[in-house]
Amino acid sequence: MPCRATARDVTLCCSLLTAQPVSSCGEAGLGENSPMRAVRSRQRHASLPVERMERGSSIQTSSTCVAVAKRRDSVRAPAYADAMTATNITPANEVKLMNGQRLARRILDEAAEKVAAIREASGVTPSLATILVGTDPASVAYTRMKRKRCEEVGVRPVRVELPEGTTTEELVAEIGRLAADESVHGILLQHPVPKPIDKRAAFEAIPIDKDVDGVTSGTLGRVILGMDALASCTPLGIMRLIDEYHVELDGAHAIVIGRSPILGRPMASLLINRHATVTLCHSRTRALPTLVRAADVVIAALGKPRFVQGGWIKPGAVVIDAGYNEGVIGDVDFDSAIEPASLITPVPGGVGPMTIATLIDQTVGAAATQLGVVV
Ligand code: NAP
Repeated sequence: MPCRATARDVTLCCSLLTAQPVSSCGEAGLGENSPMRAVRSRQRHASLPVERMERGSSIQTSSTCVAVAKRRDSVRAPAYADAMTATNITPANEVKLMNGQRLARRILDEAAEKVAAIREASGVTPSLATILVGTDPASVAYTRMKRKRCEEVGVRPVRVELPEGTTTEELVAEIGRLAADESVHGILLQHPVPKPIDKRAAFEAIPIDKDVDGVTSGTLGRVILGMDALASCTPLGIMRLIDEYHVELDGAHAIVIGRSPILGRPMASLLINRHATVTLCHSRTRALPTLVRAADVVIAALGKPRFVQGGWIKPGAVVIDAGYNEGVIGDVDFDSAIEPASLITPVPGGVGPMTIATLIDQTVGAAATQLGVVV
């Protein structure tokens, strides 16, 4: 079959790899008890092409047809394509993929519009301070990526880099300076920070209204209570992805694996606030596979590569992989989990892009609030 590229997202990439036009994708075999059954048509709609790619630049390989398309938007296919080549994607299960890249792009586009509106109304450019302590290569890369996303949408990045030997007091003082600076609307402390630093003390120095990464105890308390908050970015990004795919949470059984203050705990709270019944697991949890087997929604956030096995997943469950381990490997064994899952996030291209997009969106929202602009 000729390679006919018509979509801009993961569905497109998968279709290209399997040489299937999107419209011919098979319906995913959703389990009878799946919370997704009632929304299959909307899920399909969410996967449908919204943009046409230019044809005539496809490369045939022995088993796949990979289009090198000239794209009309800035969605980046390569990360998805990488994921696809590494995973067990077939025409029958490709519709199960939750495309974080596409949703993140939309959030960033909307953030750019809000930035323009804020500037017009107030004459002020929203800004995000990123604080990096030391030279950890991953942290350097993450802060660079965040600043780049800021620039893409018109947010002014404020780069703060402190040397390896910085003390907790010096870091707290720096955060205090940024907290008092009215031209700075959001503060992000890249973590992990070097060992001797009291990370919690540093986080707590960030005022709640500038806590766009959602790391303070005040923010977490508000999240737990269901109050307005700049929530921790990864769990909030996951909630947006869940909503994008119309996953029914009310009454569903969700399991969250991992209880960190920035991920598992706020994740559990956000799910409880939406009336899910939540089991929060951690390293001392007994019989984890049995617990996972009972869940309609599985959130893996433990930092162990390919830990959650497909055999643990209830047929029809929604599987969200927040893990990001060395080698760009998630916490879920994607190849085995995609079979029973009704929806699943790939790594990369699932939760990761949502985290940064949520950070930027919250920065813009914080700026609007601080400047008294309605966007
Ligand atoms: P963390 O602070 O190290 O917490 C890990 C959690 O997993 C802990 O609660 C730990 O339990 C639990 N855990 C560890 N081993 C376990 C096991 N065998 N069974 C059950 N639970 C276990 O990690 P984190 O910062 O929350 O990050 C978790 C993962 O998400 C990592 O892969 C990280 O890279 C990724 N992440 C991704 C993004 C993104 O944007 N995609 C953002 C943040 C984090 P205890 O509490 O008992 O120790």
